Amino acid sequence: MHENYINGEWVGAGEVNRNLNPSDTRDVVGEYARGDDAQARQAIDAASDALETWATWTSEARADALDRIGDRILADKERLGELLAREEGKALAESIGEVTRAGRVFKFFAGEAIRFGGEFLPSVRPGVSVEVSREPVGVVGIITPWNFPIAIPAWKIAPALAYGNSVVFKPADLVPGCAWALASIVDEVGGLPKGVFNLVMGPGSKVGNALVTSPKVDAITFTGSSDTGRRIAAECAVRGAKFQLEMGGKNPLVVLDDADLELAVSTAINGAFFSTGQRCTSSSRLIVEKGIHDRFVERMREATQALTVGNALHPDTQIGPVASQAQLDQDLSYIEAAKRAGCRLEAGGERLSLETPGYYLTPALFSQTRNDMPINREEVFGPVATVIEADDYEHALALANDTVYGLSSGICTQSLARATHFKRHSSAGMVMVNLPTAGVDYHVPFGGRKGSSHGPREQGSYAKEFFTNVKTSYTLAQGV
Ligand code: NDP
Repeated sequence: MHENYINGEWVGAGEVNRNLNPSDTRDVVGEYARGDDAQARQAIDAASDALETWATWTSEARADALDRIGDRILADKERLGELLAREEGKALAESIGEVTRAGRVFKFFAGEAIRFGGEFLPSVRPGVSVEVSREPVGVVGIITPWNFPIAIPAWKIAPALAYGNSVVFKPADLVPGCAWALASIVDEVGGLPKGVFNLVMGPGSKVGNALVTSPKVDAITFTGSSDTGRRIAAECAVRGAKFQLEMGGKNPLVVLDDADLELAVSTAINGAFFSTGQRCTSSSRLIVEKGIHDRFVERMREATQALTVGNALHPDTQIGPVASQAQLDQDLSYIEAAKRAGCRLEAGGERLSLETPGYYLTPALFSQTRNDMPINREEVFGPVATVIEADDYEHALALANDTVYGLSSGICTQSLARATHFKRHSSAGMVMVNLPTAGVDYHVPFGGRKGSSHGPREQGSYAKEFFTNVKTSYTLAQGV
């Protein structure tokens, strides 16, 4: 059994989680410990006790540790990518890409551990000077979803450690494999003091809840659904813990009449369906100006039907299976509801039986949809995209912004004026021009607005806003 990692030791648990391959449900990826709240509390105590020793490490020593972890992830990217594809169902090439990103994130934050600084300012009072410095927050609880099983943990764990915090990491119950592999790399090559990094696999209702409610956990960084995020926010607010939430999206891609049709189609296909549509940044609403609408729908239908759905490990597969039976049921129920509501199914939306038994679904494209329909209001989190016709640019912009979410948005146009206006007026936290709404760099801030996010941005040097506390110190110089 793959065990939890607490205070530098591998520790078993009473319950076992059998991790199944969504491309072939006969294939058991491995057996993993399913911890509980008592184990989470042990890990929290270990993380709390480790803070003092950790504080004696120089920034250079922390940087070296993160750099070694990043190097090892990159050296192992084929093996880890295969594990990711096997447990989550993401097509192999994309899985290896995700692992590469995780390695790069650790190396980026190795540099940040040394680079980040403070400020030294003159005071408004004579003889006084002011320092603004940053200190670790303390024990950070890290709660992650199943759809990016190594990249999201990396972009939370690496900055937490870089800025001197200790960590208790709780991955999604559906994908313990990548989390365990990451913990084993931290154990083998990181050389961190005992208790600085802890992994507790187990259900959100027990392990996650213990992290959120413990007075010894100073901050919670969470990525997942809006419902869970709201509950975590309420708990943290009551006990005064710092929290950061990245949640759902209903991301619009606007296609204007002057767009390059082929570029718009490939941008929409990538944004809507790659990673089986299971990305918080997926282009789930395609908002298309009426002059190009019919041609766009026709080309999208052809391109959607041409996608190869299959076993995530097969090199020809473009779209892997849906990650779980529960997610598949959710996707199918949204597809049925959209059909009942009168949307036209242009392509896909069908359950597929392949050589290996898995949760295969052909990507679904709907046209003749309205922005007020549930399929356009609620996050499906699967390979399902809709087309909404817009009268003109102003109408398209209004539709794009008419959502409770605000994670990512995009526009396909050859007009610099329109692109510039859209970047300024989109209500999303990330805006793409002639690029898919999904797919971002690791050295710049990531995050949304409105119902998609809460708290400081993740990634890049902006990560320090969450993972450090600011201190302002005043000094009156004497004897000078
Ligand atoms: P969930 O909210 O169900 O789960 C996310 C994590 O929270 C899991 O580790 C889960 O544990 C844990 N959890 C569940 N209940 C609690 C609780 N009461 N207390 C503490 N932790 C808890 O989301 P999914 O895993 O289903 O992920 C899909 C969602 O994530 C989508 O809505 C998607 O949009 C969003 N997402 C957002 C991103 C962003 O950056 N904005 C990026 C990626 C995904 P367990 O596994 O045991 O349930």
